[in-house]
Amino acid sequence: MSLASADVRDAAMSALGVSAAETSPSPGDVSEAAARASAAIDPITAPSQAQDVPTPRVSVSPGLDMDLHSLDDPASPWVVVNKSRAIDPLTWAPPELDSDGGAPMVPEASAALGEMRAAAADAGVPLAVGTGYRAHGFQEYLYGDYVARWGRDRADRFSARPGYSEHQTGWAVDVYGSAACRLKACFADEPAGEWVAAHGHEYGFIERYPQATEDVTGYKHEPWHLRYVGVELATEMREREIATMEEFFSLDPAPEYG
Ligand SMILES: [Zn+2]
Repeated sequence: MSLASADVRDAAMSALGVSAAETSPSPGDVSEAAARASAAIDPITAPSQAQDVPTPRVSVSPGLDMDLHSLDDPASPWVVVNKSRAIDPLTWAPPELDSDGGAPMVPEASAALGEMRAAAADAGVPLAVGTGYRAHGFQEYLYGDYVARWGRDRADRFSARPGYSEHQTGWAVDVYGSAACRLKACFADEPAGEWVAAHGHEYGFIERYPQATEDVTGYKHEPWHLRYVGVELATEMREREIATMEEFFSLDPAPEYG
């Protein structure tokens, strides 16, 4: 895609009060994503941990109350949304949002985002913020546009259907370090991406779509898409080397829409 067209689109969406950000692929983006997906299983280039480790299904840590938060309630920081777990109700919007962290999110997550960004800046790797909360109606528009351009099968690999996007919960945010690797797998290899992978859990964030977990999460590797789950769970997942929420909570994998 030409930078000009992307900039124009971003500017137009900014004017609408939304962040264009996530996934507006040109043909080049899609084929690049496919190439990266196949390269992603190379352990030498693998930037994220836990991928080569067999993931234990259930061995509950005595330290973490697995019932602390709901997995179903979209107001819960532990809500699990994927292709077989729609947001209920589909048109859910968080009752409260703030943008203190740099993008609209549920206040608890926004505060954590702000702290994380301050720490990253102190470490010399400033984190820019793309999309946080995204309304059902806008997701409906985006997804419809992708389907029209790419077809449903292809669109489903990089865009959530309305009612199935974590961004609609207000608990997810896309970050980036440089414009060149914004919404691209190369974010993982940038200093900002490496910092987030190493320190995100200290602020309650997990990488929601890790490398080589497409069969579980339904999405290719998105190192930029961070999900706030709270420090306790994020730390527990890291210590136990469990890459996905689905595996941590022994939920069914969701590679496809049901
Ligand atoms: Zn995202």
